[in-house]
Amino acid sequence: MSIAYEPTIGLEVHAQLNTCTKLFCRCSTDYGAPPNDNICPTCLGLPGALPSPNRQAVELAIRAGRALHCTIRGKSVFARKNYFYPDLPKGYQISQFELPLCEDGHVDIEVGGETRRIRIQRIHMEEDAAKNIHGAGQTGTTWVDYNRACTPLIEIVTHPDLRNADETEAYLKKLREILMFTQVNDGNLEEGSFRCDANVSIKPVGREELGTRAELKNINSFKFVKKAIDFEIVRQEALISGGGTVVQETRGWSEGDGKTFSMRTKEEAHDYRYFPDPDLPPLVVTEDQVARVESELPELPEAKRARWQTELGLTEYDAVVLTGHPVLATYLEDTVAALQAELNGDLKKVGKKVANFLQGEVLQHVKTDGLHGEVPVPPGGLAELLVLVENATINGKIAKDVVVEMIETGRGAKAIVEKRGLAQVTDTGAIQSEIDAIVAAHPKEVEAYRCGKENLIGFFVGQVMKATKGKANPKVVNELLRASLKG
Ligand SMILES: [Zn+2]
Repeated sequence: MSIAYEPTIGLEVHAQLNTCTKLFCRCSTDYGAPPNDNICPTCLGLPGALPSPNRQAVELAIRAGRALHCTIRGKSVFARKNYFYPDLPKGYQISQFELPLCEDGHVDIEVGGETRRIRIQRIHMEEDAAKNIHGAGQTGTTWVDYNRACTPLIEIVTHPDLRNADETEAYLKKLREILMFTQVNDGNLEEGSFRCDANVSIKPVGREELGTRAELKNINSFKFVKKAIDFEIVRQEALISGGGTVVQETRGWSEGDGKTFSMRTKEEAHDYRYFPDPDLPPLVVTEDQVARVESELPELPEAKRARWQTELGLTEYDAVVLTGHPVLATYLEDTVAALQAELNGDLKKVGKKVANFLQGEVLQHVKTDGLHGEVPVPPGGLAELLVLVENATINGKIAKDVVVEMIETGRGAKAIVEKRGLAQVTDTGAIQSEIDAIVAAHPKEVEAYRCGKENLIGFFVGQVMKATKGKANPKVVNELLRASLKG
């Protein structure tokens, strides 16, 4: 008889806090600085240097905690996690162990139409290690860049509530989105400011006790996380079904081989000899401080999507696309506000207009980098253009050309339309004389139209638009054409 197994997955996400300076000193956290530029006695762990916590980092950690529905501990404790490695100049990492800053939160995810609550066990603050560069220089030795040492991180630890790779991906995406919209983290996987370790184990279906887990370490893309988890579940099942046992160990992911591989057997917590850091007093956070940080929380993307659908008439698809980055979401809201100030119309129609034009013509030009991003046309400028469409000064097709010119030249919509004489021809006399000429030039098509081939209207509209260089008001063209073709 074969036994059915079910996977259990718990995640540890390390997210870099979006501060200018390090966690316990005033060195810059700037990414990409020349090696060992951003260092000082404190982050190098030189004797006599004392750490002093970064207030902004603490507040960002609280912000993350409240956005993820955690309770914030009034008194948390920094602890030393001891291990020996060149990327750790002090010989220990300052982290939090028994008394973390945040506990008992959750993230709700939706997978396959089902909503699942993933419980967050804890969020603690800690400093990052330095970066080893192996095989460097002419001699192929290992170099260490201490710029990253002491960079502020939070580690967000879930309960083993995830059941497969799809749920894991949904959780990671949702978490990253929340941390980006709250400006806690820049979501940059390539630069390692959002890193994920996954604890994967399997157990016979229905059994309470968890199986022995493998920890998949530092996988820097959502796609690889999915693949690594899928591989690991199959590997463990095959191992156990074949009479073997899973060893508790740390495993990496080789994209080339499509396999996980053993890196080292996993240390237990007691191997790290955690103890409270005698250089740092307990971290005290008042209820007032938590209340203030919470009151400053921006609207989260999920709430935005729901509101946009009811207030701005967006589809779920529009809402998902336009919450793809905080800069984009803010841009949509600012443009809708600017256009509504001009038109004072039905907010749902205004919202939908902006969303459509933004996705169709502007989105492709938006560049984002971490939390920063640039939309090449300011919200007021796009609103000005859409007003011209709305009051029939230009038609939608011309608007597409105008926006390209706005992006290229940085000039305003009105100025471009005036300078290039793009305003629509609404003068019925002028349009009628073009129509008369076209009708006279195409007797066969006119005959066919009158005999019932009414879709030839498209042909005639095309001819008129061509003759007027696209500037004729399409509505007027249609009305006049239909009247003329009746004969
Ligand atoms: Zn420093």
